Formats: sequence, C-alpha cells, structure tokens
Amino acid sequence: MAVAENILALAQEAMERQQCSRLDMVRVEYGALAGIVPESLHFSFEALIRDTPHEGARLELVCIPLRLRCAFCGTSFGGEGQEALWQPCPSCGEEFGHTVEQGKELILSRIQAS
Ligand SMILES: [Zn+2]
Repeated sequence: MAVAENILALAQEAMERQQCSRLDMVRVEYGALAGIVPESLHFSFEALIRDTPHEGARLELVCIPLRLRCAFCGTSFGGEGQEALWQPCPSCGEEFGHTVEQGKELILSRIQAS
C-alpha cells in the first residue's frame, strides 16, 4: 500500500503545480528489482482512489529491464527478473557478485490530469 500512496502523493503534487484537480492517468516506470508486484499495486491504487475525485484514473506500469555489471570482467549485460542476478556473465562465466546498474528505479514518468 505504501508504494501506491507515494505514487498518488507525487501525482497530487504535480497536479497542484499544474492546477489540476482530477487525475486521469499516471505512468510509473519501475525496475525489475524495485519490489513491485503489478497486480497488487493496481489493486492498492484502485482502493486508494475509490470514492475520491480520482476514481477511474489509470495506472500504467512500465518495467525497466535489469542491467548488471560483472564484478570480475566488467561486462555489462541485461536480464529479465531477479533470477538474472545469478546468471553467469556472458563473457567470462562468473556467476556471483554482479553489480546492479539499473533495476531498482521507481519513477513517476508521466501524468495526465484535468
Ligand atoms: Zn564477466
């Protein structure tokens, strides 16, 4: 629930700046390791906006792919989800100690309001 509350709070700040009062759509980009479960986030968001002026607003979730760097040879490579953390490096085969370069983000990238 906390993540949905943060998203709504950020959206409300942006709407105040634009002097809008009703949220139509909010797009959130999240890293594969940000701990986001899309179904439960949608559920929490909808529960939060029910019976408010924002009821019916759409939440768009866009997953940012994982980007890792091998600690051994420095090769940067991509992965789908959390399990990619233990994938062997494509160039040297090292399986442990990859650094996460991208994948923990949580960004409110766009809102539409009226
Ligand atoms: Zn490597």
